[in-house]
Amino acid sequence: MAFVTTAAVLLRSHDYGDTSKILRFYTKDHGLVSAMAKGVRGRSGRGHTAIGTFATGTVSLYLKDHRDLQTMKDFSCTRIREGLAADVLRFSGASAVAELVLMHADQGCRPDLFEAIESGLDTLESADSAQGPTAALSGVWRITRVLGFEPQLETCIRCELQFTGDEVGRFDFPAGGIACLECSQNVDGPQIGPGARLQITQLVQGRLGDTIDHPKKHLAVLSQFLSYHVVSRPLKSLEFIQRLLPEDIEQQ
Ligand SMILES: [Zn+2]
Repeated sequence: MAFVTTAAVLLRSHDYGDTSKILRFYTKDHGLVSAMAKGVRGRSGRGHTAIGTFATGTVSLYLKDHRDLQTMKDFSCTRIREGLAADVLRFSGASAVAELVLMHADQGCRPDLFEAIESGLDTLESADSAQGPTAALSGVWRITRVLGFEPQLETCIRCELQFTGDEVGRFDFPAGGIACLECSQNVDGPQIGPGARLQITQLVQGRLGDTIDHPKKHLAVLSQFLSYHVVSRPLKSLEFIQRLLPEDIEQQ
């Protein structure tokens, strides 16, 4: 058994028994870790901070190899991210980031993934209501890219034609990218013009850019891409965000 201390972000928390919790952290040094935190519920007063979901801090753990559930000694919170809980869209975006990481990450040391989670949650916390959907999309797309599943957006997924200007194609989900007009005769995915292509590129890179104009369509593209390439079932949090949003306004 090893005693370790590492930076960590809390992705999910379940009550266990009367006084304990099972906490699921993404840690900087040990990847995804589930830990039993004994006697943490109902603690208050000096030396004990409440452990809120999406908080970042330093966790001390007793790690045993080949164990699914580890034992937590202490979690000292440095960033609470209260702003996430204040808005249902921000909270759902953070939940989508957590859901994808919990479904896909492992115990490997991935500082780049830790950084992508942190930055996604920070961006969501400070997003205003107009930017909320964009922040959720960019947070989840960036995690997708860091996990190694980047869609092909700059060249046609079938013939490698370089997209340079106003080309319109379709998203070819089974193939994993955008097919040019010529190659997309038998492609069922949504039509992607130059504007949407640029927006998806920015989202995948985790850049916010301008607020996107068709968040529901973007969510559908992200959900379908994930379902084909990354996860075995659709992310519930993305489906929830889809239902929260008003219909996209079609521009003339
Ligand atoms: Zn092509």
